[in-house]
Amino acid sequence: MESAALTGVMIGGAGHSGSTLLGMILSGLEGAVYIGEGAKVRYLGDTSKPLKKRACKICGDDCAFWNGFRWDMTRGLYEQVAAHCGAHIIVDSSKKPDWITARADELRTGGHEARLIVLMRDGRAVVNSRLRKYPDRDLAVQITEWMEQIGAARALAENFPGPVLHLAYEELATRPEDIARKLAAFIGARFDPAMLAFSARDHHPLGGNNGTQFLAARGQPGAAAIQPGERSAAYYRNHPDEIRLDLRWKDEFAPDHAALFEQMAGTVNQPMKWGI
Ligand SMILES: [Zn+2]
Repeated sequence: MESAALTGVMIGGAGHSGSTLLGMILSGLEGAVYIGEGAKVRYLGDTSKPLKKRACKICGDDCAFWNGFRWDMTRGLYEQVAAHCGAHIIVDSSKKPDWITARADELRTGGHEARLIVLMRDGRAVVNSRLRKYPDRDLAVQITEWMEQIGAARALAENFPGPVLHLAYEELATRPEDIARKLAAFIGARFDPAMLAFSARDHHPLGGNNGTQFLAARGQPGAAAIQPGERSAAYYRNHPDEIRLDLRWKDEFAPDHAALFEQMAGTVNQPMKWGI
C-alpha cells in the first residue's frame, strides 16, 4: 500500500470566526481527520478539567476516537494522531499562534507538510457572537482582544514556514463548493462532495463551537449531550441541514455597540467588512 505523506492543516485567526465549520468541512477530504482544537489534547482524561475541555465535545469521556489516546509530548502530535487513526491529513482549529508554530516546527522536523489557513470574519459578527455567549463581558475589552488576535494571526501568517491561505468565513458560507475546491487544492488533495455534507459523518472534536457541533451531530448516536448555548438554541434547532451564512449580528448588535466598534476597530475591520 502506498503511504501518503502527512500533512498538518492548522486554522489560525480569532475565535468565533467559523473554525469549527471549516474543520468539519475539511474532514470530508479523503484520509483527513478533524481533531477540533488540538491544544486541548493536553487535557484528555484530566478530571480536574471540565468535561468540555478534557474530552470529545460530542461523546464526552467515553469516545471511541479518543479512548486510549495520550499524547507522548516527546514526539510530534500529528504523527501520533495519524498512527492512532490512520489519517494522513490532520486538521487542527486551535488558532493560538504559539501552538501552531510549535506544531509546524514538529511537522518540519519530521519531514512532513504544514499548511496554515487564516480564517477571518467581519469583526462585528465576531464581537457580537462573544457578547451573545458572554453577555456580562465588557464590550471594549472584547473589541480589543479581537484586534489583538487579528494582529497576531497576521504576524503568524507572515512567519509561517509553509503555504498560507487567507479565507473569509462569509465566502465559505456563501460559496461552500467553490471554496471547498480551493481548500482541497491548497492542501494538495482532491475535492470530495462529502466535504459539504459534514453532518453525514461522525466527528470527535476537542473544544469548538457548540452550535455547529449540534448541527453536525444531530444524527450521530450518543450525541444528545451537545446542545447550543441558551441564546442560540432557537437558531440552531430551526437550522436546516445545510451550510448557511450566520448574519445574526445584524439584528442583535446594538447601535451603541456598533458605534463603539466603528470607533475602535473600524480601520482594522475594513478589509473584513461583509455587506454594509
Ligand atoms: Zn467522540
